[in-house]
Amino acid sequence: MVYLDYSATTPVLPEVLDSYNKVTEEYFGNPNSLHSLGIKSHELLESANKQVGELLGINEGEFVYTSGATEANNIALIGAALTYKRYGNRICVSKMEHASIYGICKYLEKLGFIIDYVGVTEEGLIDFEELKEKVTKETILCSICAVNSETGARQPLKMVRQVLRKCNENCILHSDMTQAVGKIPVNVLDVDLASMSGHKIYGPKGIGLLYKTKNLVLTPIQYGAHPGDLKPGTPPLPLIVSFAKALRIAVKDLSKKEEAVRKFKDKIVEHLSGYPNIKINSSKYCIPHILNISVPGIKPETFIHALEKDEIYVSSNTACSSGKPSEAVMSMYNDEERSKTTIRISLSYQTLPSEISEFLESFDKHYQELSKLR
Ligand code: PMP
Repeated sequence: MVYLDYSATTPVLPEVLDSYNKVTEEYFGNPNSLHSLGIKSHELLESANKQVGELLGINEGEFVYTSGATEANNIALIGAALTYKRYGNRICVSKMEHASIYGICKYLEKLGFIIDYVGVTEEGLIDFEELKEKVTKETILCSICAVNSETGARQPLKMVRQVLRKCNENCILHSDMTQAVGKIPVNVLDVDLASMSGHKIYGPKGIGLLYKTKNLVLTPIQYGAHPGDLKPGTPPLPLIVSFAKALRIAVKDLSKKEEAVRKFKDKIVEHLSGYPNIKINSSKYCIPHILNISVPGIKPETFIHALEKDEIYVSSNTACSSGKPSEAVMSMYNDEERSKTTIRISLSYQTLPSEISEFLESFDKHYQELSKLR
């Protein structure tokens, strides 16, 4: 098998799975119970919290665990919109966001908020001129992802913050950092709110995190035993400990891992440049872990299933938007055919050189076959 869909999800690292199993077996007490089993679990929870706080450079009270990035995005955007609506009803998001952000925006529209969409340049960078126009005194919140999940385009969040401050110093900045964490250095302190997910960093599914700067108040969207809890319920200790471990491993040796991945991306790009028809949807702002290409004239699902016959796994755009044209590619190039024929190859530091060769061999074979059928 050649798995090249690491941006959809990653396999769980064996050592992370070990922690998950160990905590499930040995720390089954509820961390909120008063007896010794509860205390034992509570202590483990505190040490995981400490580790996560240190890894992200934030205080322990500044984050909540969620079930994943989708839930983190919900708690952040809806929570902030509800708290700060008295200051304005406009929310600004980029045209390069994950589908979950757009789903939340649709809901917020029903609540009376106006959503302003900011385009990107052909290089996938947020259009700062448009951002300046769209962020008004009525804009309470802006959400811009750190790395786009379809093309890997990376946004300069520090600059976004500066521009926001000039337009409206009270505007809250949220960033979906799901595709950035563990791939490139990220600083959650560049923003007020940040979302991330365990299953993109070789951790288990069902755990994520929302960073929230201290002075920000989010209106909870779920209710439980403790008023104000943003994520009520029993803490899922095995998931939390696994997340902390996955995060610790993910942020280690980032530049070494990125260098390895870049070599693979360069090799694929060089090989595909031999096909005049194939378009590389990438710019200098894209991280090497995601390579988006367009293969005009061939339906992405047909190509993906053909590759699958050789046990090679890639996707069309994102797993959450499968079957739809790529919004990110459309925003960058304004080219319908290009956005309808995308294939996303997502790479890992775990990828082997032999896997790249296998992929390219299979790609060539199926490209010839499918081109003849056109
Ligand atoms: N945001 C981004 C940028 C993503 O890539 C994904 C996963 N495809 C999500 C959010 C959703 O994450 P989760 O599956 O943890 O809810």
